[in-house]
Amino acid sequence: MSKTSRMTSLADLADIGRDAKRGGYSRHGFDRAELELREWFTAEARRRGLDLEADRNGNLWAWWGSPGPGAIVTGSHLDSVPGGGAFDGPLGVVSALEAVDALRTKGFTPSRPLAIVVFAEEEGGRFGVPCLGSRLLTGSIQPDAALNLTDPAGVSLAEAVSGAGLDPARFGRDDEALSRIGSFVELHVEQGKGLAVPVGVASSILAHGRWRFTFTGQGNHAGTTLIADRRDPMLPASQLVLAARRAAVGDARATVGRVVPSPGGTNVIASTVDVWLDARSPTGARDLVGQISEDARQAAEEEGCELVVREESYGDTVHFDPALRDQLAGVLGGVPTLPTGAGHDAGILAAHVSTAMLFVRNPTGISHAPEEYAEPDDCQAGVAALAAVLEHLAR
Ligand SMILES: [Zn+2]
Repeated sequence: MSKTSRMTSLADLADIGRDAKRGGYSRHGFDRAELELREWFTAEARRRGLDLEADRNGNLWAWWGSPGPGAIVTGSHLDSVPGGGAFDGPLGVVSALEAVDALRTKGFTPSRPLAIVVFAEEEGGRFGVPCLGSRLLTGSIQPDAALNLTDPAGVSLAEAVSGAGLDPARFGRDDEALSRIGSFVELHVEQGKGLAVPVGVASSILAHGRWRFTFTGQGNHAGTTLIADRRDPMLPASQLVLAARRAAVGDARATVGRVVPSPGGTNVIASTVDVWLDARSPTGARDLVGQISEDARQAAEEEGCELVVREESYGDTVHFDPALRDQLAGVLGGVPTLPTGAGHDAGILAAHVSTAMLFVRNPTGISHAPEEYAEPDDCQAGVAALAAVLEHLAR
């Protein structure tokens, strides 16, 4: 086992996948930046003498000890949203490497296999479906449905993974990989303003999903087409945005962050408008979207437009294993437990294995944006907490 002399930190990744146009980082599943980050992770794992393995679905595993059942697994993802921050994802991976270093420095040897996992395309920033790597692993998305997803340039997931040297024919539920996980603990930057102390433990994830609304009207000339003659899909599309805000009351959230009119000309009435709705609610996001869809459908009718609504992904409310949650909060000296509105691979894994999350304080409440931040001292507290948790679980 090689001793590590050089520290690993988030700063090592600072130059990979910077987005000059949007600010922050754009690192998407199997694109150049994400592949570079995978190479970085591979090198870091090898430097520590960890055995690196790519599973059938393009997730990376670095093993301390022989892969096998009852493994204690930690990790996160390396991809980002478009123009995202430095912490969402990479903090969990870097902290996992640092926690392993800390455990080795103190002479700890796990009595169970321990692994660091990097899940592929967690944000769905390229292929639209979040947590793609963990969904494929657990069978919560069918391989054909996943492999046929396309990015905005029309490249399919099958083509992208082939280009990265993976075999799409092997994609799909991986019972062997899944059965090895005894417990999964993901460390992640907290993404609201939910923590007043450096570290906390997650209790639940809001039900959430993504829907694509396609409004179809009649493309036409912006100057010669009388207002009375128009069937402009941008009208109901804008009503959808307003309906989403109206419907999101209490702890529900509804967001339109992406609108694509086609053909997209200044002097052209659009022929179609695609609008993506992200909806989350403690009472089940589908009810919320049903209500919003009704308003959108009525607005489409009034403008003589057609509307097709497709659900692109959905995840019900996740309650993390309460026994593990309480155990970890206890190991960490009674840190707070808190719910989150953000989705995570841990939320997908939770339906199959005992799963928990550690959150590191986000003092600004800003995430999925270049300004996302966590204090260096809080990040170090996160590493110490993760090391303590891994030691407790793997001893
Ligand atoms: Zn994340």
